[in-house]
Amino acid sequence: MRPFKYSDASDPATAIGIVSANPTAKYLGGGTNLVDLMKEDVMRPSELVDVTQLKYAKIEEKADGVSIGATATNTSTANDDIIREKYPLLSMAILAGASAQIRNMATNAGNLNQRTRCTYFYDVSMPCNKREPGSGCGALHGVNKNHAIFGWSEKCVATYPSDMAVALAALDAVVQVEGPNNTKRSIPFADFHRLPGDHPEKDNNLKHGEFITSIDLPANPFSEKSYYLKIRERSSYAFALVSVAAALQTEDNRIKEVRIALGGVAHKPWRASVAEKWLTGKEATEANFKAAAAAELKNAKPLQYNKYKVELASKAIARALEGAMQGGIYGSMEADSTTTNKN
Ligand SMILES: Cc1cc2nc3c(=O)[nH]c(=O)nc-3n(C[C@H](O)[C@H](O)[C@H](O)COP(=O)(O)OP(=O)(O)OC[C@H]3O[C@@H](n4cnc5c(N)ncnc54)[C@H](O)[C@@H]3O)c2cc1C
Ligand code: SF4
Repeated sequence: MRPFKYSDASDPATAIGIVSANPTAKYLGGGTNLVDLMKEDVMRPSELVDVTQLKYAKIEEKADGVSIGATATNTSTANDDIIREKYPLLSMAILAGASAQIRNMATNAGNLNQRTRCTYFYDVSMPCNKREPGSGCGALHGVNKNHAIFGWSEKCVATYPSDMAVALAALDAVVQVEGPNNTKRSIPFADFHRLPGDHPEKDNNLKHGEFITSIDLPANPFSEKSYYLKIRERSSYAFALVSVAAALQTEDNRIKEVRIALGGVAHKPWRASVAEKWLTGKEATEANFKAAAAAELKNAKPLQYNKYKVELASKAIARALEGAMQGGIYGSMEADSTTTNKN
């Protein structure tokens, strides 16, 4: 591991000032991703500013929804009474990720900024445009079993690994950030993460030095009936091959509003907008769920080794919508090994 400077920020302005002034400085949350990447020599920040003691850990109800602090841990967020009651989808998604120990350390902002699990990205002897722009993409014609089927470019076919973010995409969350000189902006979740295009080295649209202060969840009529389905290779901790966050509002079994977001299929959480449009106004039946999923997956562009994801994602969408209709949130989560953590 390379030497680096470390400081413990006592106030946000100081933290933002230090990181903004040094192009190779980074904020440090729980360190569960960043420190691993530093040990592997994949990321080489010269300076870390620990932000976990800053006062951004509150989860509070507002007139138009709920605000989740950026430095709150994944555990405290998933177990928070307000989140469990009003946004159970988010709670399910967080609990489907990582292990209890990691969730105890991981912060919400750190979770959104975690980097891809593409094995070429982690192996510094291999070409990787995300790690070293211009070096090529080892996965494009390599072992790409876990890679993207939507939105990829010749420069990068990686997927984005967070479970929490898939639920936030379905819930139309908004990321609040603060930059140098007290500048503030709100980033709709759909615009937070990026597709790789020609610049896969950029995972998201945060500017250097911008600090996430909170994630806002607007009030909505659809998250009562919601479900997070995660398909992974083992029931202990593992990243999603495919995951689905589904939420809907029905009236007389007709779908008024529906949200579907997919994980494990693209460089960012993938809103299944074709399926959403297809379903709006239709009856909430298994046949319609399957037809909507098939319509979405028609646009998939699988790689050599990940063709299985097309059928998997299609079935997962239909199953997640069924789960949402049953409204079985915590009950079905306990009974469903694909959404719980066994370790
Ligand atoms: C074995 C293992 C299994 C895992 N399995 C899963 C899984 O199944 N699903 C899943 O979703 N995740 C999984 N994870 C990932 C885990 O959820 C992330 O590592 C964690 O959420 C990152 O949070 P952190 O606070 O530790 O971030 P850190 O590692 O501290 O930071 C990550 C990034 O966020 C930036 N950052 C931190 N705070 C801020 C801020 N306030 N503003 C701007 N930038 C900030 C940092 O600079 C850094 O670039 C797993 C991790 C491990 C080690
Ligand atoms: S898929 Fe992206 S992260 Fe993986 S090797 Fe290619 S450029 Fe790197």
